Amino acid sequence: PVVYVGITTSSIVAGAINTREAIEQYLDDNAVDADLVCVGSHGLCSHEPIVEVQIPGKTRVAFGNVTPDRVSTLLDAAINGFVQPEQAMFQYYSDILEPWVGIPFMQDLPFFKNQKRILLKNAGVISPDSIVDYIALGGFRALATTLRKYTFDDVCRMVEESGLRGRGGGAYPTGTKWRNALQVATTERYLICNADESDPGGFMDRLLVESDPFRVVEGIVLSAYAIGANRAIVYIRNRYNLTVERIKNAIDQAYEVGLLGFDILGSGYSLDIEIRQGPGAYVCGEETALIKSIEGKRGMPSIKPPFPTEWGFNGKPTVINNVETLANIPDIILNGAEWYSSIGSQTSKGTKIFSVNGNAAQTCLVEVDFGKPLSTLLDLAGGVKEGREFKALHLGGPSGMSITKDELGYPIDFDELREKGITLGSGSVQVLDNTVCMVDLVKYFMHFIRNESCGKCIPCREGSNRMYQILDNISKRPVSNEGHTTLERFKGVIQLETLAEVMRDTSLCGLGQTASRPLLKALKSFRDEFEEHIFDRK
Ligand code: SF4
Repeated sequence: PVVYVGITTSSIVAGAINTREAIEQYLDDNAVDADLVCVGSHGLCSHEPIVEVQIPGKTRVAFGNVTPDRVSTLLDAAINGFVQPEQAMFQYYSDILEPWVGIPFMQDLPFFKNQKRILLKNAGVISPDSIVDYIALGGFRALATTLRKYTFDDVCRMVEESGLRGRGGGAYPTGTKWRNALQVATTERYLICNADESDPGGFMDRLLVESDPFRVVEGIVLSAYAIGANRAIVYIRNRYNLTVERIKNAIDQAYEVGLLGFDILGSGYSLDIEIRQGPGAYVCGEETALIKSIEGKRGMPSIKPPFPTEWGFNGKPTVINNVETLANIPDIILNGAEWYSSIGSQTSKGTKIFSVNGNAAQTCLVEVDFGKPLSTLLDLAGGVKEGREFKALHLGGPSGMSITKDELGYPIDFDELREKGITLGSGSVQVLDNTVCMVDLVKYFMHFIRNESCGKCIPCREGSNRMYQILDNISKRPVSNEGHTTLERFKGVIQLETLAEVMRDTSLCGLGQTASRPLLKALKSFRDEFEEHIFDRK
């Protein structure tokens, strides 16, 4: 038999290391000759630790919430071939292996059926530590094809035609960005993979790297090739221990088999990838600040232009793409631009990964095609926790906004949402229920911005601090006449609106320019909650 256990940051939090130890103990105690394989995450975070078993002749069967005390019962059942339907979550489909009776197939579960898993298709299935597993499922075929058949310009054109847009939040056309760098007359260009995911509550890139790091490495090599770069850098925060370990191991294995380094697959093209660990700063999501951080300087944005594609790392053309953007490239090359652009909506092509948490019934990582309604995300997360009422869906973290029930029908689409004044962000989604106070939520985000502001320009540095103070005053109800008066709090809201506009219009970078989005949207959609605080309505 083979026993698979999902080990990622999210499952470790749920106790997966203890579960793995209990499995080792069980196999030892019972002298079972089984392989124990570590895999990534299916995205069903609330059901972790997840353990799967494959015995000869039968399909692979998955168990959820496997705490150490359940290990022996479940492994006894699986190894002896008598799994009860209520014990298992799902089984894999196979047309040659015998299925388990009464256990649903993975692709029939609404959680998987209502997603379009292209980037996450290997997540939870293969070992993130084994390049052989990735290659066995078609990995690095796109790279081999590219190096044999396509020029830099061909790859750029395919990505332009695919309609792929950046997944880090900006939604800038990826192919155009590459073309801008490729057009600069130089022999030295750089590709930076931004794996520094910094939205509180966002874990899309983290789980993608931890579950399928070779896909990201292949995406990096293809993208570096497209812009004619011979050096690539993965920028990642040092607190992401397992993520760093997995990407480092993937890079090392790619070097070992000749898929990185000098003269890759005898093509004449060479690429080195290195990892740079950052201290973890929200502002380093801004491209110019990120480059400064890599250069060993203080991570502070600078005025654009020049854009990094003309003047970036070491003063050379540099393309910065986030993990998810790069993970799309192998499939675009393999299946063609036309195939890719047939997925999604008119102007937002392909799929998007979202991490859904907060007051959701289940915390999860999901991938859906563009064009689906935003309500899909709530449905995949199973709605709100039992006994609670849905209040809002917060998209995009500290520079995002909370949408109401009436707005859940809007499509997941960069442009259609922008027209409605809503930003999709990078994919972090929080489900909010009726226990959440919107004033407190906005205050939390402003506190985050205040702490993360680099302090270079006054509107952001002073504005975020002042806005936080006002929100703090509004959020506190007066206590025996010591709190702020109703009039003071009322004036505070007017000041907030003025400050928000000034910050938006005069801050130097996106951090300050977008910092007031959660507040302005909350004032529009949940104004009554601010008034409840101001007028001390219970
Ligand atoms: Fe720094 Fe804020 Fe100004 Fe951006 S807007 S440069 S984060 S102070």
